[in-house]
Amino acid sequence: MGKYLINTYGCQMNIHESEKVAGILQDYGFEETTEVNDADVIVFNTCCIREGAETKIFSNIGAVKPLKKKNKNLIVAVLGCMTQQKKTAENLKKKFPWIDIIIGTFNSDEFEKYFKKSFEEKQKSFEVFDKEFDIVENTKFFRTSGDNAWVNITYGCNNFCTYCIVPYVRGRERSRRSENIIKECENLVKEGYKQITLLGQNVNSYGNDREDEISFPMLCKKICQIEGDFRLKFMTSHPKDFSSELIDVIASEEKMSKVVHLPCQSGSNKILKLMNRSYTRENYLQRIEELKSKIPYVSLTSDFIVGFPYEEEEDFEQTKDLVEKVQYNSIFAFMYSKRSGTVAEKMENQVDLQVKRRRVNELLALQKEITAKKNEKLVGFVFDCLLQEKKDKKIMVSESGLSISLESYDGIEFSKYYKVAVTSVKGNKISGKIEKRK
Ligand code: SF4
Repeated sequence: MGKYLINTYGCQMNIHESEKVAGILQDYGFEETTEVNDADVIVFNTCCIREGAETKIFSNIGAVKPLKKKNKNLIVAVLGCMTQQKKTAENLKKKFPWIDIIIGTFNSDEFEKYFKKSFEEKQKSFEVFDKEFDIVENTKFFRTSGDNAWVNITYGCNNFCTYCIVPYVRGRERSRRSENIIKECENLVKEGYKQITLLGQNVNSYGNDREDEISFPMLCKKICQIEGDFRLKFMTSHPKDFSSELIDVIASEEKMSKVVHLPCQSGSNKILKLMNRSYTRENYLQRIEELKSKIPYVSLTSDFIVGFPYEEEEDFEQTKDLVEKVQYNSIFAFMYSKRSGTVAEKMENQVDLQVKRRRVNELLALQKEITAKKNEKLVGFVFDCLLQEKKDKKIMVSESGLSISLESYDGIEFSKYYKVAVTSVKGNKISGKIEKRK
């Protein structure tokens, strides 16, 4: 039939949405290619979280124009967060009138409808709706994340953090029906997936938009009851909704991953307030203490935004202090960058780029020290690991992302969980041995 190429920008949510688009294209008989010159369908699944992303995407789309001349049947589609912004979508259409499909996030669930119009009727589509569609179920996916399967549980967000564009381009929070989520997870376990990651902008508020729906901890509990050897993870969590009930479920359910990613963003109450995060450093630290006390081997990770408007040296010191106190396993730290259409974009007292750069490097260096010290203490710990191939070499990877080398991989199979005990740590090299086969 032909070949397709999907360019995905941004987060896991987009990766999963591209799996949906791939499923539709494969249903039409198209095969995946990584070679742009061979493609008969080119999709750009866009992101607008960071300023600068747009320029890059525009230039990548522009580069496809000569291929349109060579292949008269080539279909080019652009969808996602960037095209949900009407002004950007109009601009894109004006600049590249040869694009066949431009749709926003509110109608990307209906990609098939627009693709059909273009493929069978040779008609162009330009539709960016203001209102979210109802959730579409029974979608076919072409999954691309190895042993892991992503499962959407909510769409959109109600939080309006002042730096974030998501609520404007993905709409208000809508939860899928728990019976549909559980059914999807049952099928994934039957198909042999070893890890399921529940996806939402704020998974912890799952079900709040439906009076008759179960809570997020209850949903996790029900999924853990599915028979089979798998681990359950979720992303992303908002600390304000991270409940004791959820901590209890993580602690008590064997299948719940013991890696908790809890984005903090800043250690300063002044900055958290300006970010509209709805929690204080004290509430956050309390949650962390509860996690540590109920789950002895919990792995903690987080996100931080450094150099948010009005961030002074003492605010940054508070962030460093919080990182020291928590002793994360790893963190992601980003320099704040303005995002048009957000509240923070208009804030005065933007922090100088040099200062932001210095602070982000300082924070990452601090975490590097903490990680190294924590790694030294790993000897004796036992982790659930899956065998993976990295740069043509076999390695055991724990659910927290630790790479552990074994002396021999004889008899070790892919897609099976093994308990691996850490035997030594030398610099970056962590060695281990199989403790017990699961
Ligand atoms: S919780 Fe905040 S940062 Fe996350 S998607 Fe919603 S508004 Fe954006």
